[in-house]
Amino acid sequence: MTNVLFSAPDGDWDEYREVLPAAIAKTGVGADIIRDSESHDPAAIDYIVYAPTSRLQDFSPYVRCKAVLSLWAGVEAIVGNETLKMPLARMVDYGLTEGMVEWCVGHTLRHHLGMDQDICRVDTNWQPHVPPLARHRHVAVLGLGELGRAVAVALGRLNFNVTGWSRTPKAIKKVRCLSGEDGLHEALRRAEIVILLLPKTPGTENLLNAEKLSWLPAGAVIINPGRGHLIDDDVLLLALDARRVGHATLDVFRIEPLPPEHPFWAHPNVTITPHIASDTRAESAAEVIAENIRRGEAEEPFLHLVDRAAGY
Ligand code: NAP
Repeated sequence: MTNVLFSAPDGDWDEYREVLPAAIAKTGVGADIIRDSESHDPAAIDYIVYAPTSRLQDFSPYVRCKAVLSLWAGVEAIVGNETLKMPLARMVDYGLTEGMVEWCVGHTLRHHLGMDQDICRVDTNWQPHVPPLARHRHVAVLGLGELGRAVAVALGRLNFNVTGWSRTPKAIKKVRCLSGEDGLHEALRRAEIVILLLPKTPGTENLLNAEKLSWLPAGAVIINPGRGHLIDDDVLLLALDARRVGHATLDVFRIEPLPPEHPFWAHPNVTITPHIASDTRAESAAEVIAENIRRGEAEEPFLHLVDRAAGY
């Protein structure tokens, strides 16, 4: 019997209690799923299904564990854990990807079409304006991983002029792909809408600082479903006040929930959403976890392994 420790808050267990055993059973692996609140022998655990909000921080007693399987796409809370000696796989699932595409396309279209401006209100505002077609709108997607690539492709299918930027060079149909500092300059220089889908690593901290924001055309819109630390908050507020940045739609923050006193709340050109851009969907995520357990048992390579040195 394969022993799987489910190490995540109670709310997560409610979502996975039926779908995870069913998904593992479908692979033919016989597994016992143990919750971390139940008494267990760490030395007998084969896999840990893990949420970064879990109590478990010391992995050293889990000497037999073949892999830690994250329920989250972002692994910054665990990737630097020195007690973690076993492979770490992150969450890549179609539910998460489709959810992110829908959220990003929705918020891009809001700004592209000027929906806020055009929705007629009780003040009898009746001032039609014609937005440009998507083919005349430049969008930059920073980060071309599982999520950024899917968002860039979806926007490309809608005819947006999409430029993507990543650490290593890429080739994606209908997306101009760039990398490096010069590539970032080129991507931001014309970007009327910028979408951030980068992970939290030392290399992406404050990526959008004063200098990078100055590369954007005046009035550009920033959409950040990546991580809060990608933008220097104070610099962004100054840029918003000066109308250098026209609007910021922010789903992620340095501190979550965003503290009530944070100036983003009161800013008229900031839209806040509570880290809901895309959530791991239990049903599809359980299949990903189960497939990795099957692979581990069959001694096949795990899917979606984290590059511990790169930090994502
Ligand atoms: P991923 O597949 O690991 O892709 C990360 C992308 O960022 C890759 O294209 C990578 O470049 C690029 N990158 C990393 N460091 C870079 C650097 N220093 N300079 C330039 N590019 C860099 O990650 P993902 O699955 O797409 O997820 C992206 C992030 O979205 C997650 O880390 C998480 O923070 C966030 N997220 C948010 C939500 C939400 O609800 N708000 C939900 C899920 C995920 P290479 O391709 O060259 O490696």
